[in-house]
Amino acid sequence: MSIQVFGLAVSKGVAIGRAVLIASSRMDVAHYFVDSTQVDAELDRLRRARDEVATELQTLQRDMPADAPGELNALLDVHLMLLHDETMIAATKQWVRDRHYNAEWALSAQLEVLSRQFDEMEDEYLRERKADIEQVVERLLRSLQRSASGTAERAAGQLQPDFGGEEPLILVANDIAPADMLQFKRSVFTGFVTDVGGKTSHTAIVARSMDIPAVVGAREASRLIRQDDWVVIDGDAGVVIINPPAIVLEEYRFRQRQSELERARLHRLRNTPAVTLDGERVELQANIEMPRDAQAATEAGAVGVGLFRTEFLFMNRNGHLPSEDEQFECYRSALDLMQGLPLTIRTVDVGADKPLDRMTIHELRHEHVLNPALGLRAIRWSLSEPEMFLQQLRAILRASAHGKVRILVPMVGQLSEVRQTLAQIALAKRQLTDAGIPFTDAEVGAMIEIPAAAIMIDRFAPHFDFLSIGTNDLIQYTLAIDRADEQVAHLYDPWHPAVLQLVASTIECGRRLGRTVSVCGEMAGDPAFTELLLAMGLRSFSMHPSRIAEVKQRVLRADTRHLTERLASVLQDEQPELAASRLLRATR
Ligand code: PEP
Ligand code: MG
Repeated sequence: MSIQVFGLAVSKGVAIGRAVLIASSRMDVAHYFVDSTQVDAELDRLRRARDEVATELQTLQRDMPADAPGELNALLDVHLMLLHDETMIAATKQWVRDRHYNAEWALSAQLEVLSRQFDEMEDEYLRERKADIEQVVERLLRSLQRSASGTAERAAGQLQPDFGGEEPLILVANDIAPADMLQFKRSVFTGFVTDVGGKTSHTAIVARSMDIPAVVGAREASRLIRQDDWVVIDGDAGVVIINPPAIVLEEYRFRQRQSELERARLHRLRNTPAVTLDGERVELQANIEMPRDAQAATEAGAVGVGLFRTEFLFMNRNGHLPSEDEQFECYRSALDLMQGLPLTIRTVDVGADKPLDRMTIHELRHEHVLNPALGLRAIRWSLSEPEMFLQQLRAILRASAHGKVRILVPMVGQLSEVRQTLAQIALAKRQLTDAGIPFTDAEVGAMIEIPAAAIMIDRFAPHFDFLSIGTNDLIQYTLAIDRADEQVAHLYDPWHPAVLQLVASTIECGRRLGRTVSVCGEMAGDPAFTELLLAMGLRSFSMHPSRIAEVKQRVLRADTRHLTERLASVLQDEQPELAASRLLRATR
């Protein structure tokens, strides 16, 4: 039976494929395809892991103290029985043989199937046996991890597209932590679905940067979709269709072909300069999360990187943050890929929905921090860890000797923070000078993403060389809507008049004071806002590389003289979205 699930459209396009369900707790399990010549070797790994765990359990039984409770022995018997149970082992082998999943992935996939069956059991005693299966799988995974012989990438849980099966795969999960999302970059998946998350949650942002269709906040999706179901993701409408009828599937295949053609057409604009009809030059830059993304930025025709979110380098390191040298190498490798174009490095912005450790939004909300978005994050965190901050500043400054580097400071809200930050930058420079290490006078910019900074922009701007408006957080803090919470996602409104007024006044004031102003939040990459932002006077946009071509097309067709004349009518309208579409019709 075909079922539809509704969620939030976060990354456009259509994806059709088989569902791969991954539990949030097993995101770090290695997922990759094995070559057909390696299938037997992979089955051998599985066999060896099973033998090792059997010996482990038998040893535990043998060494059990005489006075240990009898249930313990019985429990180990159950575990031994499960270990040799055919529904578990034979089916796991089948995933390896038919789909070429690596052993760990096959085991997790089968665990997902069995978990469902247990959840649906009437008998409470039997239902609780699910925990036993999980424990046995956990032991098997640990044993497999010890025998992992693959490349470093495999060990890090990278999915490798090279031996892909014939059928495209769609990742379905309750939630994916931003840190885990990174490992799915360059992965075999052609689409994502999650139960939770808002439109500008960092999980959604990373999905968007991968340029594959995604739907988040689809509440029940991971419960309704079963391992291996056929799934269609409509990333434009935010709909997920499970096991669609043939006619629906055909319609979506048609749409998929259409959007591929459109994409190819837009790609031809890559080398065309972004100049409006009235000759205004517009700078279209890229947002990146990892150094290697700089390549996608230049390939998409970006004239620079306007936002390098360095926090992803700091995640999942078990408390060992990257050293100054390691950071320097990362920044320099991104610069090498930029081929002389500028790289704007934002200092670390951890906190809120980007914890250092692998943690999902759910865990953050319910177990750890009450109100993370209002807590110790971004520049507040950096100033509370001065040694770490100085290390990062020195690494960025050292990189500045190898290319065009700009420093961007996230979430400034107080003038005292501005003063402290600038003092730390000056200190980092003195330390480098004393050590005889070269650096340049990199420009320093502030992210305007807290309403206080936008309202007092005339006081903040003079301290900086440039400004970059972070609309994702500016909307969150202006409207008091958690950007990662799907329950209030319908109220997260970039068209809210208060948001538009703050964006417009920041651009106007920055320009008046002679500062370059850019927008690097998701609004910059949304073509629905291109003309409005141009009307506000914006001439610098930073977005995911995949968005550049579409925004450029809008820029090429715009005439800023006509747009500017009508700006006031949009800003004063109670329904700016409708007013903006009227503005467009009137100026075409
Ligand atoms: C923003 O807040 O708009 C922004 C670009 O930063 P981030 O999404 O990383 O918080
Ligand atoms: Mg932000």
